[in-house]
Amino acid sequence: MMKQGSGLPVYPGVAIGTAVVYHKASGELPTEWDSPEQELSKFQAAVDEAKAQLSDLFEQAKKTLGEEQAAIMEVQVLMLDDLDYLESVQAEIEGGASAAAAALECGESLAQMFASLDDEYMKARSADIRDVSRRVSGILCGGAEFQLPPGKFILVAEDLAPSETIQLPRERIMAFVTQKGSSSSHTAILARTLNIPSIVQADISLEDVPGCTVFALDGFTGQWYIDPDQKVLDELQEKKSAADAKRAALEAYRGKKSVTKTGKHVLLCANIGSPADAKIAMQGDAEGVGLMRSEFLYLGREDMPSEEELFTAYREVAEIMQGRPIVIRTLDIGADKQVDYMNMPQEENPALGLRGLRLCLEREELFRTQLRAIYRASAYGSLHMMFPMVASVWELRRAKKLCSEIRRELLAQGYPLGEVPIGVMIETPAAALIAADLALEADFFSVGTNDLTQYTLAVDRQNAGLGEFYDPYHPAVMTLLSHVAQCANAAGIWAGICGELGSDPKLTESFIQMGYTELSMAPGRILELRKIVCESEV
Ligand code: PEP
Ligand code: MG
Repeated sequence: MMKQGSGLPVYPGVAIGTAVVYHKASGELPTEWDSPEQELSKFQAAVDEAKAQLSDLFEQAKKTLGEEQAAIMEVQVLMLDDLDYLESVQAEIEGGASAAAAALECGESLAQMFASLDDEYMKARSADIRDVSRRVSGILCGGAEFQLPPGKFILVAEDLAPSETIQLPRERIMAFVTQKGSSSSHTAILARTLNIPSIVQADISLEDVPGCTVFALDGFTGQWYIDPDQKVLDELQEKKSAADAKRAALEAYRGKKSVTKTGKHVLLCANIGSPADAKIAMQGDAEGVGLMRSEFLYLGREDMPSEEELFTAYREVAEIMQGRPIVIRTLDIGADKQVDYMNMPQEENPALGLRGLRLCLEREELFRTQLRAIYRASAYGSLHMMFPMVASVWELRRAKKLCSEIRRELLAQGYPLGEVPIGVMIETPAAALIAADLALEADFFSVGTNDLTQYTLAVDRQNAGLGEFYDPYHPAVMTLLSHVAQCANAAGIWAGICGELGSDPKLTESFIQMGYTELSMAPGRILELRKIVCESEV
């Protein structure tokens, strides 16, 4: 009998195959246990063992998934040093509980507390807490390992924690279906990285899965099916064939130049946040990196990255991109992207506050570290740097002055340096309107349409409740875009677009006509856009 339901689609595509339910590897809780002192020392030993396991996984993950995803393992190790957790487990054990039950229950209540927070990132971390405490409890119970079937499979789970997904054979997973999770959860992030269809928040009962012969999911609509009937199966097969054929047809554009029928070249680049993303950019056949959001090197950690860490990350990106141009945006922290260790002031209107280049100009040490790292890495590839949230010419001049000082300083210290063109992100209406002046002092422009739309229309880009008011197609935004390209062309510098609008296929021709010569986007979109450029008559 066919069963069906739906969930939130987080990555498109169709998968049809065998489904496996992922079981957490936790054993039965003990029915007898020792004195509190003995249970406490068992707990401490299990915590140490869990840390050792996670460190091994971290090393493994760095090799297979890259630094960014592996960092989640590190977060879990840190959770095992969390005093609140350790003290509450200790109190439970002293109150007479077994170490295994205390580890599990305290983890569960901490996880529920995180799940109830407003912050999406914190909510998503509740899965990490649950994962870590189950690991400790599992060690105490001697839990059995989860067994995988041979061949390819669709993974169905309540939720998937990073430490679990990391242990899975990535190349054999056709799709994910989870009961929990969100579009920013780890499963969703991994699905995008692995390029596989996935659904979260599925209304599926895990007991129904093991008895099923064929499992299918539609990552376009979010529908899932257990033993679909022939009609549904035929429809899904057709959809899958069409999607596969579309993807395969795009392969014809791999390795090609992005040139219109009239000979206009457009550089199609990728937006990235880490060296691991640079590898994905190369797999997507990106012609360069049009935006490296360097703030990702600052997020999700306890302290400021050092010059050496930044340099290593940039050099890695440069080496991976093999001479293709790379635009590194200097730190754009503030507003929606906060880090505790920076002790940023509380602001009434953070989107209009101390963010982007403003913060860097106010905190020169913070800026110097980044600039030194970028210049040092410039010896390893074609690096460009770009300043976010510029509104005035004097800001650009101040930043460039510091760049010259640092260049001189590094040369005097004997570092080999490459040329590093300096660009301006055009994402405030002010910058767009004075583009002619900025163009005299900048080597290139890249338009951040996400913020440009927000500031032009005075509509918060984070506020989902504003829906259709956030309209990047608004004529005011289009007028600014056109003006920016004109000013760049008149001054003889190049202009690109790195906001979401850059990958909008409906606008590609208009952008080329306006005079844009570079578009930067999620790596998975590049071949699709190249087809549009190559077929274009403009
Ligand atoms: C933008 O504002 O369009 C942009 C590309 O930067 P971010 O989304 O990181 O603010
Ligand atoms: Mg922006």
